[in-house]
Amino acid sequence: MAYIQFLGAAGTVTGSKHLINTCDVNGKGGFQVLVDCGMFQGPKEWRERNWQPLPVPANTIDAVILTHAHLDHCGWIPRLVKEGFRGPVYATSASIDLCGIILPDSGHLQEEDAAFYNKRKNSKHNPALPLYNLEEAEDSLKYFQAVQIGEFKQLSPEISFRFVPAAHILGSSMAEITLKTNGQMRQLLFTGDIGRMRNTTVAPGRVVHAGPQEGETADVLVMESTYGNRQHPDIDPRPELAELIRKTVQRGGSVVVPAFAVERTQKFLFILKDLMESGQIPRIPVFADSPMAIKAVQIFLKHEEECTPDTCRLIKQFGSPLQWPGFFFASTSAESKRINDSRYPCLIISSSGMVTGGRIQHHLAQRLPDPRNTVIFIGFQAPGTRGAIIKSGAPEVKIFGDIVPIRAQIAAFEQFSDHADPPELLQWLRTFKNKPGTTYLVHGEPAASSQLRDTMTKELGWNVQVAQWLQKVEVN
Ligand SMILES: [Zn+2]
Repeated sequence: MAYIQFLGAAGTVTGSKHLINTCDVNGKGGFQVLVDCGMFQGPKEWRERNWQPLPVPANTIDAVILTHAHLDHCGWIPRLVKEGFRGPVYATSASIDLCGIILPDSGHLQEEDAAFYNKRKNSKHNPALPLYNLEEAEDSLKYFQAVQIGEFKQLSPEISFRFVPAAHILGSSMAEITLKTNGQMRQLLFTGDIGRMRNTTVAPGRVVHAGPQEGETADVLVMESTYGNRQHPDIDPRPELAELIRKTVQRGGSVVVPAFAVERTQKFLFILKDLMESGQIPRIPVFADSPMAIKAVQIFLKHEEECTPDTCRLIKQFGSPLQWPGFFFASTSAESKRINDSRYPCLIISSSGMVTGGRIQHHLAQRLPDPRNTVIFIGFQAPGTRGAIIKSGAPEVKIFGDIVPIRAQIAAFEQFSDHADPPELLQWLRTFKNKPGTTYLVHGEPAASSQLRDTMTKELGWNVQVAQWLQKVEVN
């Protein structure tokens, strides 16, 4: 029988890469499919794995199935191509459009990082090299092939798949894979990342359809566990958010929101528009400071079929966010710097979401020392990042080599997450038509994965295991 090997996102939340080989563990020459091909991010110990060759040569992999356009799922594709992969990368057309901005940006950032280390001459690698550059990232896009949600795709006589909605981000999907080997048929379900369930009050501002596909069948389930040991607050964050913005404006301050340029920024823009139109917050200028955010808005409008009824209603009534009065999109760095001149209350959304780089740095360097201002975090802040330092209540933070005192009010909301929490995951798993033979948990820190394993075993009576990095498991 076939096997699965976990080449990433096992023991950590990044680097998603799961290999399916239609031969048994000792066999050679099977058809090989990689489900996701993400980059390792975060601690150095994991990032260094981006530089190690795969245990299987890239040119022996026949195809990639991509669940969605987050870098920890797609960011290693250009490197795979660089190492000799020449097969198709199957993804939804919305994921392909998003990869078209995310991967070149990733190549560009890696070139910049390598140049920075070379300038400081403090790299262990002399000279420091990018994992891939902008041109290589753009080149990898030609291998992408669109597969629509629900469309069956036969990859070889033994293996076929279709995408079903995951409701995580625009274009996100799960991969339902059918294997036929030795006269036996097996269903494999790779969840990718799983979006939140259908509750628009506790998970508001959804841009894409809420709730993953229900009524699944699987012999083997490979499931994410990012929030395996955490729960989202179950109160609507919007009244508190509106009050924070109103109070900041009343004292003459501005609001700064660090947010990833793709998806999170768009989601937040729609929430602000709704709050503004319903009179819950004043009509202050809103600056979305990122060239990527502009391109991402265009992709959202192109794929309106994925939008929630609330988002469709806002688009129908008010048109494109790029045209909303009082909403400004900064493309050039000169436009970005001009936002610093805004002395009246305004709202600035900029990236990176964890303040590890990008234009948000100069906005925070300017606005953090003033107690009239407010900084609102709407995304996860990984330990050690500048975002986590600011969020922790630290009195100061280092930005561009300078110590910046933190006097602004700091607030954080956890409800804007794009990941289902354990009660939501259980709600979804209870819709399954059968009990999978084995469930392997991936894409979680060890404590999160093991707690979710225990919860699923207790609540559902399923056979659940936490996947280990490089572990091979037979599909039987
Ligand atoms: Zn994701």
